[in-house]
Amino acid sequence: AKSTGKSRAIAYKDTLRIQMYRRQEVESALKEAVKNHDIYPVFQSYHDILTGTCLGFEALARWCHKELGPIGPDEFIPTAETTGDIINLGALILDDACLEAAGWREKASVSVNLSTVQFLRPGLVKDVSNALAKSRLEPSRLKLEVTESVLISDKVRTLSILQELQKTGTRIVLDDFGTGYSSLSYLVQFPWDEIKIDRSFVETAGTYAEMQNVVSMVVRIASQLGAVVTIEGIETEAQRALFSGFGCHMAQGYFYGRPQKLDKLPGLVDQRATL
Ligand code: C2E
Ligand code: CA
Ligand code: CA
Ligand code: CA
Repeated sequence: AKSTGKSRAIAYKDTLRIQMYRRQEVESALKEAVKNHDIYPVFQSYHDILTGTCLGFEALARWCHKELGPIGPDEFIPTAETTGDIINLGALILDDACLEAAGWREKASVSVNLSTVQFLRPGLVKDVSNALAKSRLEPSRLKLEVTESVLISDKVRTLSILQELQKTGTRIVLDDFGTGYSSLSYLVQFPWDEIKIDRSFVETAGTYAEMQNVVSMVVRIASQLGAVVTIEGIETEAQRALFSGFGCHMAQGYFYGRPQKLDKLPGLVDQRATL
């Protein structure tokens, strides 16, 4: 038993070493990737939950390194946040997304994720204005998604940044509601245009009545605030129907489509041309 414990400890150390090595590899490849524009957005549609009409697309960052292979945003975004590369990376995705969306039919919007590091940095509003100016995208067609982590830092500062962003004409979205430090008070303390309920609710809503109550309550509060509610991670028609019944306005998920390179997907291109 003693030797098993020992070998387990060695295996654990090896795992840590591999993880650290991987992290360093990703870290050192990042700057180059941003500079060479190897990181780019793919787009996942979101829809009117009742009619199925496509209302726009969320930009999701992708990176395929020539030696390391595909690296997911759940890995490289946190790394970019610690190295500071998130600033240039974030601006790159924002620019790309706005340029792409400027070619879509008039009403389709584009939604871009903002990292908390990017959000709390003074240059953000300028980056947003620049992206809008370069692309000539109507500001009302740009949505900016932030997560609850921006709300727990400095509420006064966060509120003023959100208001500044809204002054540019863009819309602000609370992403991943229902995870982490979620609180219903976050809904009323900030001027959201949209609230996205996290995918974890879809996985449990069928089994837990209290989940259903929470979703219905979020919808009620949002409606009073004039905000719309999107449910994320819809994979089946049954889930769509369920959350439609709870009053959600929009839906996103594999049921409608996976994130895609728009120019590589004739179906979506046709769709966006005729929408
Ligand atoms: P998120 O903003 O919550 O994005 C939704 C994630 O759920 C995406 O993962 C998407 O591919 C996935 N998803 C969508 N529909 C379904 C579904 O029906 N079922 C399942 N199982 N998954 C679904 P992805 O693209 O791997 O992105 C992960 C996270 O990385 C994002 O979560 C976001 O927080 C972050 N991220 C991605 N791109 C960017 C970016 O450009 N900037 C920043 N700051 N963060 C980004
Ligand atoms: Ca998002
Ligand atoms: Ca989300
Ligand atoms: Ca998420």
